[in-house]
Amino acid sequence: MSGPANRQTGMSTGRRDIESRMERLRSLLSNRELDGVLVTQPYNIRYLTGFTGGEGWLVITQERAQFATDSRYFEQVEREAPGVELVRLQSPVKESLIKFFESIPAKRLGFEAEHMTVGFSNRFLRNDKSHEWVPTSGMVLGLRAVKEPEEVEAIRVAIRVAEDAFKASVPRVVPGKTTERELAWWLEKEMRERGAEKLAFDTIVAAGPNGAMAHAVPGGTPIPPGVPVVIDMGAQVDGYCSDFTRTVCWGKPEDPERFWEVYNTVLKAQENAIAKLRPGMNGREGDALARDIIARAGYGHAFGHSLGHGVGLQVHELPRLSASADDSTLKPGMVVTVEPGIYLRAWGGVRIEDMGLVAEHGLELLTSLPKEPLIP
Ligand code: ZN
Ligand code: ZN
Repeated sequence: MSGPANRQTGMSTGRRDIESRMERLRSLLSNRELDGVLVTQPYNIRYLTGFTGGEGWLVITQERAQFATDSRYFEQVEREAPGVELVRLQSPVKESLIKFFESIPAKRLGFEAEHMTVGFSNRFLRNDKSHEWVPTSGMVLGLRAVKEPEEVEAIRVAIRVAEDAFKASVPRVVPGKTTERELAWWLEKEMRERGAEKLAFDTIVAAGPNGAMAHAVPGGTPIPPGVPVVIDMGAQVDGYCSDFTRTVCWGKPEDPERFWEVYNTVLKAQENAIAKLRPGMNGREGDALARDIIARAGYGHAFGHSLGHGVGLQVHELPRLSASADDSTLKPGMVVTVEPGIYLRAWGGVRIEDMGLVAEHGLELLTSLPKEPLIP
């Protein structure tokens, strides 16, 4: 979407992207009869301005985009976010911020309800007599859910970095010797060496019964042969995240009947969802594509989380593929995970997670790691 200059600097956000994002937000404001909105969620600020520093107060009205922050960030804002008017908060910052809010040339202003603390609201918004402050929800998050081609490209790079780290690390494991924690560290090191600025989230390596906890923390015991090992990982590159899971087993499964029944049920559920997800479906319909298969196999009780989530600047963002999702539908350009799992107490877990791009005709798979679980 943006020009070659961005590619040279490695930035995934160009000026034109930023302008079109602001314009899309402004048309949402008109729909909701708002004169402007205060954006405080750091990833939303980054999305709308390019500023990566985190802390500040972005106010967007139809005419202006003002960004208030303190002296720690002045230079960074000028460098990363030339499209905003920098409002330099002086100390004491509290007074300076109150003056800024009072000066906003608008009447009805939205704020991000999910990211506003009661403390902040009491201190700054409640006593502001010059504006009507209105809670809003999901405006910028909704825009972020549909990715621009350059964002998809950044996500592809984050996936490749993590997949290459997986391929470089997993074959080095010596069952009975390598610990969960060691493997997690190898994966992290390989991702960082391949260009990850950080992990998208703490890597999960969970062998045998540990894998029965969907969000287990890697421990110091050796990975035994013959048990399912859940590896859930992702890298962050240029601000964008990846997230995938493979379940592997070193040597022959010690409980082959159950292993294959569980593994193949999860795989079938995942393949069905990947084949049938398409634009126009809501998150509940998407979730059911996998959940029904797992439930019919008798494991409905053992699939406790939702089928998937959006991925972008954050590893969990909109849309949701979940039995409790609202009516909003999948749209071309969304990037989602598809990650059914079965977790059996005292035995272990199997989860298989891929990332895909919602395209006009259906889901285009972005991850490419094979799904053969046995490692000889
Ligand atoms: Zn994951
Ligand atoms: Zn995930």
